Amino acid sequence: MAVAPSLAAATLTIEALPSLHAAAARLAALANDDFAEVLALVGLDQFGPPLRVVLAGEDSELARRAPSWVAGYAQPVLGDIVLFPGRVPSYPDRNLEVLLRHEVAHVLASRAAGHRPLPTWLAEGIATVAAREWGLEDRARYAAAVIGPGPRSFRELDAAFHAGPRQVARAYALSAALVRALERHHGPGAVARLLARLAAGDDLHDAFRAVTGTSPASFERRFFHTDAFWTTWVPFLTSSAALWMGITLLALLAIRRRRQRDAQLRARWAAEEAGPSVPPPESVEDVPTGDPTRYN
Ligand SMILES: [Zn+2]
Repeated sequence: MAVAPSLAAATLTIEALPSLHAAAARLAALANDDFAEVLALVGLDQFGPPLRVVLAGEDSELARRAPSWVAGYAQPVLGDIVLFPGRVPSYPDRNLEVLLRHEVAHVLASRAAGHRPLPTWLAEGIATVAAREWGLEDRARYAAAVIGPGPRSFRELDAAFHAGPRQVARAYALSAALVRALERHHGPGAVARLLARLAAGDDLHDAFRAVTGTSPASFERRFFHTDAFWTTWVPFLTSSAALWMGITLLALLAIRRRRQRDAQLRARWAAEEAGPSVPPPESVEDVPTGDPTRYN
């Protein structure tokens, strides 16, 4: 693969065949980024050795080896990132830049944890939050992804990453919510401290306890029983999507009522045209004296 020397920078080295140079140029702008927010989230002082980013076309061997729904992946120990620009936008990544940030975050989180293995929900949650894939403006989108029956434990959540596209989207959204909950309940820097404990040799259980004062199991229970409600339904109910749904529903009800009234009116006109007469039977009941002339 041809190296584009002008695209090499402090944090990233981007490699692409000429056919993908447009995508490479878009990413080159990010190569000068210091990824400060990502570093802060994972608790690293510095970026470390530059990452090698390979842009692969659909006709490449790399593309043939990766499942078609994978838009990119990272090999944290090697510091390699492979992106398939032809597969973007693909869920859950909206664009190539977000995808790159997501993969860079995977590598940096792994570096922060001393390359100790992370549970899928934690690794994906960190990468998703770092890439700002589910910002506050995405409340309705997030809610749409997590509404309905879904994973109710870490184990079920990790399994959802290997299920169908809808479950995968839900798994990313929930993992991001978990990482946000970790930072919300245990202070900014909770993720960084957790990764640092892992790097220092703690297992996940001990690291969790040291950082949160609680076990992964009780954090898990709290999240899936309580937080998931607050982070799903409440934001959804206060979102503009819910507001518009409410307005639409009211409008539909108003239209229906109006139609019913019009139909009643037409029925009355038809009855009046049919000729003089006796009031309709239901009116008779309304006449206290039983005198029909009152209504003529
Ligand atoms: Zn990922």
